[in-house]
Amino acid sequence: MGKNIIIAGLGHGGIAVAAILAQNGYNVTVYEKQSEGTLGYDWTDIFAPEALKIAGMPMPPQEKYEYKEHMTFFAPTSKRTLTQRVPDDKLEIKMERKDIYAHFINHAVNCGVNIIYDCMVTAPITLGSRVIGIKTDKGDYYADLIIDACGMNSPVRSNLPDSFGIEKQVKREEKITIFRAFYNKASDIEVEAKFRVMLFAGGKKSISWVASENEHTDLLVGRFEEFTIEELNEYADFLRKSCPRLGKEIVRGGQFVEIPVRHPLSVMVADGYAAIGDSAFMTVPLIGSGIANSLKAARMLADTIIADKAEDYNASTLWSYQLNYFRKIATNMAPLECVKYFLLNATPDELDYCFDSGMLNEDNITMTADFGGIFDLFKPDVKDMIVKAKGAIKNPKLLVKILDCGAKLAAATAICAAIPTKWDKKKVMAWAEKYAKPFH
Ligand SMILES: Cc1cc2nc3c(=O)[nH]c(=O)nc-3n(C[C@H](O)[C@H](O)[C@H](O)COP(=O)(O)OP(=O)(O)OC[C@H]3O[C@@H](n4cnc5c(N)ncnc54)[C@H](O)[C@@H]3O)c2cc1C
Repeated sequence: MGKNIIIAGLGHGGIAVAAILAQNGYNVTVYEKQSEGTLGYDWTDIFAPEALKIAGMPMPPQEKYEYKEHMTFFAPTSKRTLTQRVPDDKLEIKMERKDIYAHFINHAVNCGVNIIYDCMVTAPITLGSRVIGIKTDKGDYYADLIIDACGMNSPVRSNLPDSFGIEKQVKREEKITIFRAFYNKASDIEVEAKFRVMLFAGGKKSISWVASENEHTDLLVGRFEEFTIEELNEYADFLRKSCPRLGKEIVRGGQFVEIPVRHPLSVMVADGYAAIGDSAFMTVPLIGSGIANSLKAARMLADTIIADKAEDYNASTLWSYQLNYFRKIATNMAPLECVKYFLLNATPDELDYCFDSGMLNEDNITMTADFGGIFDLFKPDVKDMIVKAKGAIKNPKLLVKILDCGAKLAAATAICAAIPTKWDKKKVMAWAEKYAKPFH
């Protein structure tokens, strides 16, 4: 074996792992379908800068980012709101996605990474149980290890032979469809809550935000079903009644996209293969943030590869990457998918009740992209427990849903913690089958 590494797709985790490996003497080539200088959406994104440090990347120049503001959560119909209280040490930065990409790519190129643009990856090339290369529209390329950073619908992951035991497709309820655009500012009225997050506004099972910026108003609408631009426009008109600053002219963005909001991929590695970022579903399931986790995973993957002195890069040596990711991140993250299903099963009235009865408080909605686990949200506080218990007892239907969610959450945590510590294909596949069960 040798030190030739292919990264399929310029995903964020892929760029970060490429940079670390190139710095350590590996010969790394990235194949990206888009053209140079075109990557990234035309809007801003939020992530925890701490993750840059972990991945060995410098902070971007200060003029390129600002700190995220607190978000105010609105109940479906009641007037009650809750405002996030993000602690100072968990502050996140907001940056243009194109600048995030430019920052990551410049760093990787400076570290010696070779990037081939305008190259569509179509499938993996396998030999027996090993991935040995990729098929692209420019020809076939071979390497000692293929890192899959092609995102949620990766053609590498989804074309692996069934015998690899790696999930190929994402189910409808495991991804959220988002429409996001910056609209003109229709009025100068001062708004109290600059960043409004609305749950099930208008009775629709959706999450939406309207953020009032100086230059524009940022609209994001997410649903667990496809929706048309006509439905979006109708919904935006509904939101305009409570958010008069939301204009009608799209000034930036304006596109439908999808984000995986599910538990991480059950098997992320095979001989000659490792998935990272959205390709391995590393987002926080409730909020869809994936940049910070991808960066942290990049460090774990690079360390695993560098530690493989025999340069085997097979499932058994790469397994410690997955094990580390599960122990440090997935075990905290995956149970949140159970909370997602709880929300999807709740009625707007029940959500209103959670706000009005005090069952939900400001701590419970203070979820950041650097989310560390369910206990970040639900701190063991006796007074709060009593409020929650009283609220639940008075609403028996909701109580049943909460208990069901709690049971699934415990099962999800337990199965994540029970991940095999060593690669044994039979044992890993048996675990992977059990791992999928609590999430529905
Ligand atoms: C609307 C929206 C808002 C978001 N907001 C945030 C946020 O605020 N904070 C946050 O942390 N996360 C956010 N995310 C999620 C975040 O973008 C991802 O979780 C994160 O970027 C990790 O995904 P990735 O880079 O692995 O994959 P992707 O971003 O999907 O990147 C995959 C790369 O592979 C390339 N590619 C795909 N297919 C091929 C192919 N066949 N051949 C060659 N190249 C290919 C793509 O062009 C792309 O460059 C948001 C996502 C969306 C859609």
